[in-house]
Amino acid sequence: DPNLRQHMQRLAAEGIDVVRVTYPDLIGTDRARDILLDHLPSACAHGLAFCRAVYHTTPQGDTVPVPGGLDAGLPDITVRPDLDSLLPLPWEPGVASCLADVTDPATGLFAPESPRDLLRTVLDRCAEHGLRPVAGPELEYFLCEEDPASPSGWKRYSGAAGVVYTAGLRADGDNHLLRTLRLLRDMNIGVTGGNHEYDGGQFEINLTHSDALSAADRAFRFKSAIKELARKEGRLATFMAKPFNDAGGSGFHLHLSCDTEEGGNAFDDPAGPYGLSATARHAVAGVLAHAPALAALANPTVNSYKRFGPDTLAPWLIDWGLDNRSAMVRIPPERGPGARFELRLGDAGANPYLLIAGTIAAALLGVLAGEEPPAPLEGYGYDTARSAVLPMSLPAALDALEADTDLTDVLGKDFTASYLSYKRDETERFGRHVTDWEFTEYAYHL
Ligand code: GLU
Ligand code: MG
Ligand code: MG
Repeated sequence: DPNLRQHMQRLAAEGIDVVRVTYPDLIGTDRARDILLDHLPSACAHGLAFCRAVYHTTPQGDTVPVPGGLDAGLPDITVRPDLDSLLPLPWEPGVASCLADVTDPATGLFAPESPRDLLRTVLDRCAEHGLRPVAGPELEYFLCEEDPASPSGWKRYSGAAGVVYTAGLRADGDNHLLRTLRLLRDMNIGVTGGNHEYDGGQFEINLTHSDALSAADRAFRFKSAIKELARKEGRLATFMAKPFNDAGGSGFHLHLSCDTEEGGNAFDDPAGPYGLSATARHAVAGVLAHAPALAALANPTVNSYKRFGPDTLAPWLIDWGLDNRSAMVRIPPERGPGARFELRLGDAGANPYLLIAGTIAAALLGVLAGEEPPAPLEGYGYDTARSAVLPMSLPAALDALEADTDLTDVLGKDFTASYLSYKRDETERFGRHVTDWEFTEYAYHL
């Protein structure tokens, strides 16, 4: 394979001797194996065998019952490197990262453990209708430091003042953000810049927009990189939705538009209502109509629902508005090439592939149905008399996903079954777990 030979030569010339083959699992965790460069041709020819399982996020990482996993005796899945995705890791000399796709060796078809393929499937559906989605991810995260006095072992980064839209030493005592930004630049994943967010130890870094698969790949790699770079500093970076009681949550805002075949913006129409095309309005209507089901992907943990609430800037009600940050779907003021919507629903813990695939699937359904959105929200939101409320827990969102057969038809039966099985196992484990809050609330008085 001349392509493989070229890659091998280039990697060797760059001093790379290890390739980190990584795939996003169902929950977006980066599952990986480091292979020696000499083994890359064989990995490409036969794939790498991983065990068919999805693991708990805990360090113990026990397997979760997804169909075709535990119940089938934990068979192999085949993980195939995508050579076009090779990127040297600037902080790990000699190592290049390579994204991979997961197939089921029994059928040769993509496995539900390959959210990357799920996104491709949704994008193929869009292409059938002449739609080419463009996505721009925006992610927030908390940086934590070890703290033996805290029950979790971690506290928020203390070098940060917690003043939103600040940068420099007053916001970030030892320049975590600057170091991180430069390494991300050298990694070439299209990072533009970053700033301190609302709460002490919380940062936001923005990525450029691009075709949706590349945007998901870059957001996925961004999350791994941030976690690795924090680890290098002896710290922990977390994208979980709401890690602390005394601070707000971390969002994963998603900007979305569509290119026309000629490279213009299919969401722009100076003559249309609000300067938006019918495609844009239908897409917004689709996202609102499917929001309860979409929450299961955009807000995928039992913790996610603690991020929502009045005055959080995290949407809690199903509405849209023109440049209105209190709405779930915000239309930023730009038109022309910049016409787009920003879905503010997702939290940073979401699997980028699933958030992007789910949002695009919902938008596509809106376009196919030709739905119009209701009148946009005026003024400050959070008024339950005006807007419908999201499912406010993971079990309720999973039920909404299961019930939304239009959406699950686009996402596929196998994926939906695996996802529901994984996530329901999580909600059941959580339901049985006694929390610190319960002890504090009840132990003395009852
Ligand atoms: N942290 C907020 C969220 O959870 C978003 C704040 C902002 O608008 O940047 O979505
Ligand atoms: Mg922000
Ligand atoms: Mg935003």
